[in-house]
This record gives sequence, structure tokens and C-alpha cells, in this order.
Amino acid sequence: MKIILLGPPGAGKGTQARLLTEKFQAPQISTGDMLREAVKQGTKSGLQAQEFMKAGQLVPDFVVIGIIEERLASSDAKRGFILDGFPRTVEQAKALEGMFSRSGEKVDAVLNFRVPDEDLVGRLAGRRLCSKCGAGYHLDFSAPKKEGVCDRCGSQLIQRDDDREETIQKRLDVYKKQTAPLIDYYNREGVLKNINGVGDFKEIFKQVLAALGQ
Ligand code: AMP
Repeated sequence: MKIILLGPPGAGKGTQARLLTEKFQAPQISTGDMLREAVKQGTKSGLQAQEFMKAGQLVPDFVVIGIIEERLASSDAKRGFILDGFPRTVEQAKALEGMFSRSGEKVDAVLNFRVPDEDLVGRLAGRRLCSKCGAGYHLDFSAPKKEGVCDRCGSQLIQRDDDREETIQKRLDVYKKQTAPLIDYYNREGVLKNINGVGDFKEIFKQVLAALGQ
């Protein structure tokens, strides 16, 4: 299965991506995760990306497209993948189409997660993750047993720089201006499936499977 997950920040794409990887044995390819790792390692792409990420803006297309092109060429992505957070602009979608047409592939489905703005702000502001193993928590919905400490590995929980209140609104604005046009783009291609992203993640996953004809 070759699936694209679309939706605003905080819509639950990452959670659904992880469930999909288990179901289809296909890798989750998250440009956000890859960029955060690149920043941590201080690579060239990381250095190009970090200021944009911190400000809640999109990293320039050429940087992200380069990263994805390399990632999709690796052997584990040949049979299928779950794209989480890419494409985020029409330019990126066109670049992806170019990569696919060269290799004769096509996307099976684009899942568009719909969540009202007022829910998104609370979801993002309460998000925490483990500084070591990356496990995700939420202060209201899935709090760790001990405040600030990862249940899984005991390391310190942190808040992503761009999950701070002052950056969240910026990210939502950027989504509306630069990423939301992809909804029409993929609708015209006939591959868009709308998913109601409000509610329990297991119920949402049922909708996802139904949308994929499973
Ligand atoms: P995410 O973890 O998907 O919320 O991404 C975190 C940040 O990484 C975004 O706010 C952007 O700054 C950057 N980013 C991730 N994916 C992309 C992309 N496809 N295009 C541009 N910037 C991206």
C-alpha cells in the first residue's frame, strides 16, 4: 500500500501512521521526524531546516524533496509506505508525482484527517515526547505515570519547540495557506478519502481501514 496522510498539525497522522505500518508492514516515512533527526545530527539538511522549523514555517521544498527522494529509493520503501507529513505543498506533490511516474508507481489513497481548529490547539500544546526513545504522551489524554518521565525508558519528557503556544497558531496558518490546497489537488485525482479525526484513535483507525477497502 502506498498511502499519503494529509491533515493539519495535531490531527493524529503520526498515531494512524504507526497503526498502518503494523497492518501493512510498510514503513512510516515522516519528514518531520527525519528533519528533527537531521537537526540533531547537524547535517546539511538539518542546518538548512532548523530555523524554519523553530518558527513553525515550512522547510524549503528543495530540501524536503531531496530527503524524500533519497528515502523512497531505499529498498524497504519499494513495496509500500505511509507518507506522514509529505507532501505539504503543491510543488512537493508535483515532485512526488514525477518520482512515481519515473518508476511507474502510483498512490493508492490520500487520507485527509479533519479536526476542528479548537481541538488542534489543545492537542498540540499538551503533547510531550521522550527525549531518548521518542515515545509520545499527552498531558490530558495519555499522561505518563510519573510527571515528566517516560513510562517506557525512564528518560525525561520534553515539549517540541514548535508545540509551544506561540508557534502553534503560525503552524495552523501555514497549513491553511500552503497545505490545504492539496485537498482539492488530490480530490481532482480521485484518490482523496476524508476521515473524521475526532474521537478515539482505534475508532478512527476503523474508518481508515474502511476507506482503504479493508
Ligand atoms: P511535523 O512533525 O510533521 O509536524 O513537522 C514539523 C516541522 O517540520 C514542520 O512544521 C515543518 O517546519 C517541517 N516539515 C515537516 N515536513 C515538511 C514538509 N513536507 N515540507 C516542509 N516542511 C516540513
